[in-house]
Amino acid sequence: MTVHKTVIALRTTNSSNFDVVVIGGGHAGAEAAWVASRLGASVALVTLDPTRTGQMSCNPAIGGLAKGQMVREIDALGGLMGLAIDATGIQFRMLNRSKGPAVWGPRAQADKYKYASEVQRLISTCPNVTVVQGEVAELVTDAAWTEAGTRGHADVGSNQDGGSGAVASICGVKLADGTLLACRAAIVTTGTFLRALMHTGEKKTEGGRIGEATARGLSGCLARLGLEIGRLKTGTPPRLRRESIDFSGFERQPGDEAPTPFSFLNEYAGGEGSARSAHPLAWLPPLPQVHCWIGATNAAIHEIIRQNLHRAPMYSGQIASTGPRYCPSIEDKVVRFAEKDHHSIFLEPEGLDTSEIYCNGISTSLPQDVQDQVIRLVPGLERAEILKYGYAVEYDMVWPTQIRSTLQTKRINGLFLAGQINGTSGYEEAAAQGLMAGVNAARHAAGRVADFVLRRDQAYIGVLIDDLVTKPPIEPYRMFTSRAEHRLHLRSDNADERLTPIGRELGLVDDNRWQRFGARRDAIAAGEALLRQLRAGEGSAFDFLRRSDVDWAGLVSRFPAAEAVPAAVRASIEIRARYEGYIARQDRQIERFAQLEAKLIPDAIDYTRITGLGNEARQKLSKFTPRSLGQALRISGITPADVTVLAIHLSRV
Ligand code: FAD
Repeated sequence: MTVHKTVIALRTTNSSNFDVVVIGGGHAGAEAAWVASRLGASVALVTLDPTRTGQMSCNPAIGGLAKGQMVREIDALGGLMGLAIDATGIQFRMLNRSKGPAVWGPRAQADKYKYASEVQRLISTCPNVTVVQGEVAELVTDAAWTEAGTRGHADVGSNQDGGSGAVASICGVKLADGTLLACRAAIVTTGTFLRALMHTGEKKTEGGRIGEATARGLSGCLARLGLEIGRLKTGTPPRLRRESIDFSGFERQPGDEAPTPFSFLNEYAGGEGSARSAHPLAWLPPLPQVHCWIGATNAAIHEIIRQNLHRAPMYSGQIASTGPRYCPSIEDKVVRFAEKDHHSIFLEPEGLDTSEIYCNGISTSLPQDVQDQVIRLVPGLERAEILKYGYAVEYDMVWPTQIRSTLQTKRINGLFLAGQINGTSGYEEAAAQGLMAGVNAARHAAGRVADFVLRRDQAYIGVLIDDLVTKPPIEPYRMFTSRAEHRLHLRSDNADERLTPIGRELGLVDDNRWQRFGARRDAIAAGEALLRQLRAGEGSAFDFLRRSDVDWAGLVSRFPAAEAVPAAVRASIEIRARYEGYIARQDRQIERFAQLEAKLIPDAIDYTRITGLGNEARQKLSKFTPRSLGQALRISGITPADVTVLAIHLSRV
């Protein structure tokens, strides 16, 4: 990857040096740069340290329940994350296997160093991405621009832009060293770095991630642009030296015998008779595979933690911001689940060529001496050496009521926000937003309508963004399957069916992916048709597969011709057989739901003038500016009666 640290002169004409500037090379930024460039935009990816582009700040893993589905969706649309993890995964597991294929969630441990390198390599294959090392300190808007030329100031004038509610348009970014980059659109993906403060016990250090700087200027600039800033926190566990661990104290956790890749490009390589269709191990990861280990905390550890709670920043009052409830620190778990005498610890290798072992389950910001005691009391870790201590980090974010479903800010035209800055947590959540913002920013820069939105029934990505814009997160937002009302439809196996045609239409899906998609879709249809034809007695092979006690081997012993169905599409056909009735019912619900989603509300609507709406509804609707009647109904405090009033009003204008 070539890194530029050059002063790029800002042209004084209307033309821009870059179509899109992406600020931040994390998971959101990498995905945004990838898709924007694939749509033909010239992109500057500005990041504090380009050698850390794609770095995993915390857990060295991608996917999991709901998150794995999102990675498949990103891949189906032509994104980068699935390709990067398939190339660098060192343990692949399908989670929730006992619960039936409709809710399976793919997950993989990554070699985190190789993962970051792969992301950087993939970005370097984009001919129109310029990677710039630097800190973006200011966003330049046309309000500041017309007033003061190169002043680069974030003053906001009053030039309304035709009723969208925006008060100015982005026209460039300014780096801390004074460099100006002109652009038509900018995407802020600064993760945990804005005014970031790390805590380990009483010790506080500025920085967004261990060993890295903080970004000071940008949140002040966002505030001056009129955006309301919030503050959240997250945390990470200690890392141990592999050679100092006695693994006999832990239970070994192997990966799947037949790993499932994330990318549809790796999943289905050909039709019947291909080596993959004949071989049960359809795909082999390129890197050697490793084990993880499971152990547990105990009563003695919990006692030490209780005795030292007054030194934990979350309890001493040193940290006031909210952390993720679903991913609590070990001190949180000991307090909140006081009745439990142990909590699981998962030891996960951070890579093939490193000694670092990640201690999943004991995220903490307790002081170092307490972390030493806690670790030593875990059976198998009596002599463990801590390479990096756990810490918590507090950072600025922007309340996502201030963005539209396109991730464009309501206030500033051409300014998009994606990733942790919108109040989410997790690599997959960040990448999903990066993709959406990348598409919309590229369209905006090309002078097209930046209106690419996925509905809740189309993708977890749609659920994520719809939740963010209708229910401001009070803690870092993470995706769960329970957040999706149509989860039988939003499966990992059918993400391509749901989204690859959309990706193709957008221009993100190349001929290779499109051809593979067609081949897989045809193989599924042919397999299903074959099973419906094969009959024994009353029923078909397809009917036989509906039975919960029948697997593919059982099916083949009764209907030997079913062996011809390629291994890579069997799970999809099984799901269709088992859940046919439920899926049909959900499809009918989706149809009803789609009607409300299709009733779009113009941006310029003045809710205060709609007679029949109560004051609360007027205020909420003015604040959230929902995109559709369906979205209006999901805002807390908005009733079906309000939506009826709104529908009548819209039918008259
Ligand atoms: P990041 O991955 O944080 O990337 C931000 C990028 O922006 C960086 O490359 C940075 O250099 C760059 N940048 C920032 N400011 C500027 C600027 N002004 N100019 C130029 N470049 C800039 N997630 C979980 O799901 N579970 C967890 O338990 C968890 N724990 C975490 C613990 C810690 C300590 C941290 C730091 C993160 C944790 N995360 C966790 C969150 C996860 O790392 C993030 O959700 C994810 O990385 C967010 O992706 P992002 O692209 O939004 O930002």
